[in-house]
Amino acid sequence: MHPLLSYAQSKHNEIVALLREMVECESPTDDAAAVNRFVDLLGDKVSGAGKVKTCPGGKFGRHFQCEFALPGRRKTGRILALGHSDTVWPLGSLRSMPFREAEGRLWGPGILDMKAGLAFFLFAMRALRELEIPVRRNVALQVNADEEVGSDTSRPITEKEARRSAAVLVLEPGTGLSGKLKTARKGVGAFEVTVRGRASHAGVDFEAGASAIVELARQIDRIAAFTNLKRGITVNPGVIEGGSRSNVVAAEARVEVDIRVARLKDAPGLEKKFRSLRPFDKRCSIEISGGLNRPPMERSAGVVELFRLARRLGAEMGVVVEESATGGGSDGNFTAALGVPTLDGLGGVGEGAHAPNESILVDRIADRTALIAALVAAL
Ligand SMILES: [Zn+2]
Repeated sequence: MHPLLSYAQSKHNEIVALLREMVECESPTDDAAAVNRFVDLLGDKVSGAGKVKTCPGGKFGRHFQCEFALPGRRKTGRILALGHSDTVWPLGSLRSMPFREAEGRLWGPGILDMKAGLAFFLFAMRALRELEIPVRRNVALQVNADEEVGSDTSRPITEKEARRSAAVLVLEPGTGLSGKLKTARKGVGAFEVTVRGRASHAGVDFEAGASAIVELARQIDRIAAFTNLKRGITVNPGVIEGGSRSNVVAAEARVEVDIRVARLKDAPGLEKKFRSLRPFDKRCSIEISGGLNRPPMERSAGVVELFRLARRLGAEMGVVVEESATGGGSDGNFTAALGVPTLDGLGGVGEGAHAPNESILVDRIADRTALIAALVAAL
């Protein structure tokens, strides 16, 4: 058997134990103290294996960085592994969804997105050390504290680290129950459209009013038509709000719109369409804010090359490695957009990210850990 795979299998119980500790250390984005507890736990687990530092994340928890000490002389360049410490689950979620093993899976808040990827990576680094497999590059791990809310404070750090890296390996979950790697992700953005009309009494003075709600409804119809499925552009009016009482002509109404683009070059055109929205009823005014947050991760030649390497390394272990494209964003969007070859989806194989059935497949723990180790050694 492949030495990395047999190493990972021999460590199965230890990996599960680490995962349990990680999941039971809850770390919702909006609770900096909780995220920092998780960051401390990470630091404990890598102590001795590398140099750890953290940097402030503003109102969020601290961002974590570790430079690993690995076998191999004369290293040139570096590889950046990327993950996040925060989850979407509030403190206390463990009460209704405790860490447990059942039906061939491990369950718990944040296990798939993305504590499994972090646990696999730590054991992959241990495998390289203990098997004394030489590595040609310096290897760094960065774990951001604000990924689930858009990575505003970590983005500059991620981009700075990526610029000095030859490749980025993203430890987010794979796609579906076969754990396909991710070679393309859509760009993600948000717009808020606020309409201001003129309030009046719906009975006494109806004609003096200009309904912001009626105006917004017409605008939403227009906005929804910006979707172009063939080009991978989606526009989703996801939240609406407005009005005060049914007998008042509404003075104000707003919509929050999620946008996704497969290609960066489609973003400016879409933004322009939003900015050129004009009121149907001239008595109303429209205010637009927002734009693209994460650029798309496009399937560049560098990305494809990384994927092919992973596929070959997987085949050497008897594992079929496939690729996929997704509409969801990750911090890999930022690094790929800089032109740094990025391979995403290397973490847990399972389902239910952000959902109560969040879980990973037990029998895919070892091969994922071994694949990450093999990639780091081969790059
Ligand atoms: Zn994630």
